[in-house]
Amino acid sequence: MTEIIRMDALSPDREGILRASEIIKRGGLVAFPTETVYGLGADATDAEAAKKIYAAKGRPSDNPLIIHIADPEDAEKYAYTNELYYKLAKAFMPGPLTVILPKRDSIPASVTGGLDSVAVRCPSHAVARELIRASGRAIAAPSANLSGSPSPSCAEHVISDMTDRIDMIIDGGKCDIGLESTIVKISEDSAILLRPGAVTYDALLCVCPKVEISHAVTDALAEGERPLSPGMKYRHYAPSAPLILLDGKDGDVLAFMKKAQQSENCALICYDEDAVSLDNKKLIILGSKDDLSAQANSLFSALRQSDKLDADVIYAHLPPKEGIGLALYNRMIRAAAHTVKKI
Ligand code: AMP
Ligand code: MG
Repeated sequence: MTEIIRMDALSPDREGILRASEIIKRGGLVAFPTETVYGLGADATDAEAAKKIYAAKGRPSDNPLIIHIADPEDAEKYAYTNELYYKLAKAFMPGPLTVILPKRDSIPASVTGGLDSVAVRCPSHAVARELIRASGRAIAAPSANLSGSPSPSCAEHVISDMTDRIDMIIDGGKCDIGLESTIVKISEDSAILLRPGAVTYDALLCVCPKVEISHAVTDALAEGERPLSPGMKYRHYAPSAPLILLDGKDGDVLAFMKKAQQSENCALICYDEDAVSLDNKKLIILGSKDDLSAQANSLFSALRQSDKLDADVIYAHLPPKEGIGLALYNRMIRAAAHTVKKI
């Protein structure tokens, strides 16, 4: 039985937080809201609790978890930090940035998939921070979806994936950002961007003089290639019908979509501005053309919705790679298994 409790995202209720933290302390699983997506949390220092996360999600055990801390300095207990970590922390924490650092022995190998590094994040969401504080330890938390389905950007997604698999779900409403955190692996003076998110490449460059974008952010992995982040090798967020991204001028893409509605059993993920020109049939509206944050916020709901439409194919615009667009591009290109059609 999974208990579902509602909580105000801005002022978490003390009693509920304490009950949730008791579950964490005794090795149980609690899904909770963050500003990015919902996390599926367990005690990050308890090897057995971490294993339960993999079981509940059906996640491969070599795909490491992110540990969540209440304050940036808490990283000292679990990782070997450096000056660049504190510069990034000053600029972006609490917030949607995950930093990969060499791990200390306090974090069991089951949390890091056997790696000698650990991913650390300090979320800004009040419910997440209060839960970590009340638990008195770091909380290991991947996204609270079943492995292979889109990350949950609202409680309904978690309820549909995790009911009867975990102890508690804290429903704090819709997540502000709706895409997972930016992940960087850092050395003393440089960073490699492993997963783009709301902390953009340009924002990172303001703090860190050298930022390399891992090629796996935009390109398919070569046959047999071992990625820097194990998660990159899994095809996440795959809808059941093939997703094809349309690359061309907005007007040409819209014309293609119109025609496709006449001749194919297709679902369309389109911009607000497209909707008036299209049949309101298997149509999913992502957000305004120029509002990439709004599009990012609705992407995972759109992918989940597209799965229910019983279409043979799903078409969507290929996002631009600028700003938070790079995060959208990365999620969509992977959901599409890198299938792009030039228009
Ligand atoms: P999720 O928690 O579901 O958002 O996924 C976490 C992502 O972080 C996965 O893609 C992991 O592969 C990546 N990750 C976590 N820890 C590490 C690490 N130590 N080194 C590289 N990537 C990591
Ligand atoms: Mg995930």
